Amino acid sequence: MNISNHVITDPDESFRDHFSAVNEDGKRNWFYPQKPTGKWHTRRAWFTVGILTLLFATPFIKFNGQPLLLFNVLERKFIIFGIFIGPQDYWLFGLTMLSFMVFIVLFTTIFGRLWCGWACPQTVFMEMVFRKIEYAIEGNATKQKLLNKAPWNTEKIVRKTAKYAAFLIVSFLIANLLLSYVLGVDDLSKIIREPIADHLPLFGGIIAFTAIFYFNFAWLRDQACTVVCPYGRLQGVLMDRNTINVAYDYERGEPRGKIHKNQERTEGDCINCHQCVAVCPTGIDIRNGLQMECVNCTACIDACDNIMDKVGFEKGLIRYTSENAIVKKTNKLITPRVIGAMAMLVLLWSVLGFMVVSRTDTQTMLLRAPGSQYIENSDRSITNLYTFKIFNKTNQTINPTIRLEGVSGKLIFAGKPNLALDPAGMVEGTVFIVVPAEALKKRKTTLTLSVFQGNEKLEEFETTFIAPEK
Ligand code: SF4
Ligand code: SF4
Repeated sequence: MNISNHVITDPDESFRDHFSAVNEDGKRNWFYPQKPTGKWHTRRAWFTVGILTLLFATPFIKFNGQPLLLFNVLERKFIIFGIFIGPQDYWLFGLTMLSFMVFIVLFTTIFGRLWCGWACPQTVFMEMVFRKIEYAIEGNATKQKLLNKAPWNTEKIVRKTAKYAAFLIVSFLIANLLLSYVLGVDDLSKIIREPIADHLPLFGGIIAFTAIFYFNFAWLRDQACTVVCPYGRLQGVLMDRNTINVAYDYERGEPRGKIHKNQERTEGDCINCHQCVAVCPTGIDIRNGLQMECVNCTACIDACDNIMDKVGFEKGLIRYTSENAIVKKTNKLITPRVIGAMAMLVLLWSVLGFMVVSRTDTQTMLLRAPGSQYIENSDRSITNLYTFKIFNKTNQTINPTIRLEGVSGKLIFAGKPNLALDPAGMVEGTVFIVVPAEALKKRKTTLTLSVFQGNEKLEEFETTFIAPEK
């Protein structure tokens, strides 16, 4: 994907015909990116500290006695910022996901793949954790290449064992982190403390996820972003010429050419040193324009700035900028597409906010029993028969009572139903509603009922009551 139509001096356009991760023999190109250093890398390192702290701390944060975030796909229970979403509220989950997608569209249209470079767990763990371990144990890119080519001597065995053991430990930690978001830390610590035999399926899950993460970070690496992740594929439709990306300023850099001592420079500022390519974890040349493989990691900005510093040129030949800023020297962040996405997001968030505020803790369905008629009692009262279902939409036990509102009368439950509701549970049964005849003015009366827990009203709903014609 190249949105530039500027003619660059390098006539080799072969990059358009092949995938950087595969060589001409169809085999994988294993990348050895050089260690990035510079202002942007330092910023990303600090940002990573913040992101990882947040990621590991969040499962321990409780709100109203329950986790702040929980994605229990096994039991289909979700908690998003303290709001419990059970089976009765999937529409809420759907709406949250929809607004999240619109937010992604909006964010990507303005800021490109900022998420990929700075906050995506794949990039954060790959570039800032696993890659760092690799540099620490095997050395820089050149040393890694030499080690891989070297025969299996003691040094190679020790370094490789140490690296893969460290990879395995971190993968195990990430697998536990993931499960803490699925099960909650309380359940996870129970599984860890209790005998493995009591939790074999979950223990199997931890092992399976450890293996998946290990495979991902030890082998799959850049291909998780360039082959597997669907987000990268969407860039072409989400971005436009005003989108801010890591980009090479070809207006300033071209024509590129080596620097020659004591010669007046007639070329642009790019000295063709290839440092921007050497540091790229996805093996691309940013000078070819915006490419799907670019995860906006900023390594090439630092590499180029370091070179510009050395040769005495102004920094920023590669920088965060947009196509329009490079060509027209002007950039418009608020475009019609951005306004459209913003309007959609505001609408979705307003609906979501209203739904959350007006949401009740229980949801009751109380319907007249099919085929039943009214019963006229000797004390001049009328009885109707109903079936009911009460759903608990919270993650806590509820002991509900149902009361008639605005009319005297009573509810007589068939049998002795226990209305206690388990978290996200449901209770159903049959109930008679008895109302004095003088309270009923017509054949069909709408009755209002409420569900209480103690003195707290949880829900109000209506049903129809049938009486003889007056
Ligand atoms: S690092 Fe900068 S100067 Fe060197 S090749 Fe890349 S863009 Fe050109
Ligand atoms: S082109 Fe630059 S920003 Fe993009 S992935 Fe490569 S090094 Fe990172």
